[in-house]
Amino acid sequence: MSAPHVGVLALQGDTREHLAALREAGAEASTVRRLRELEAVDALVIPGGESTTMSHLLRELELLEPLRARLADGMPAYGSCAGMILLASEILDAGTAGRDATPLKGIDMTVRRNAFGRQVDSFEDDIDFTGLDTPVHAVFIRAPWVERVGPDVEVLGEAAGHIVAVRQGKMLATSFHPEMTGDRRIHKLFVDLL
Ligand code: GLN
Repeated sequence: MSAPHVGVLALQGDTREHLAALREAGAEASTVRRLRELEAVDALVIPGGESTTMSHLLRELELLEPLRARLADGMPAYGSCAGMILLASEILDAGTAGRDATPLKGIDMTVRRNAFGRQVDSFEDDIDFTGLDTPVHAVFIRAPWVERVGPDVEVLGEAAGHIVAVRQGKMLATSFHPEMTGDRRIHKLFVDLL
């Protein structure tokens, strides 16, 4: 089988690190900023950033509805931090009306934005991750957590008693940023789903 072609939504965030991680995990990888680039990929990574700004940019670039449609159609996706927020079916503390984070409804879950932020803005933790034999060093930056998962969603990891990693079929989401640590196992896990 030829390598899957994975796009990285390149509005904000660690685009380069995700591209490198995907390539090391065995995928072909390129950035997605326009419709024809979205149409060309088999799967998509949605990096961190600010989910409110990313929603706004998706609308400006006329990518919001096409992306939602591709997700509804089963395109695999991996969302990290703000990307997790966007993949949710429901967002709590989404922002101010008109300038809020818009759920793309890829994963049946309710996510709270900036959830850890009230306790501590950024922190790191070694967490157990279903499917990996040793803990993942997870970096959280104004990170969300998951407050509800639907029946088809598998919880893959928790931090401080909160859900921070999930999978539903070929959709994966983490509250943290694996692209920042050089540990490619989560990107590999995603690429292996494809
Ligand atoms: N707090 C950001 C948001 O609400 C997410 C932060 C991140 O992606 N590191 O979108």
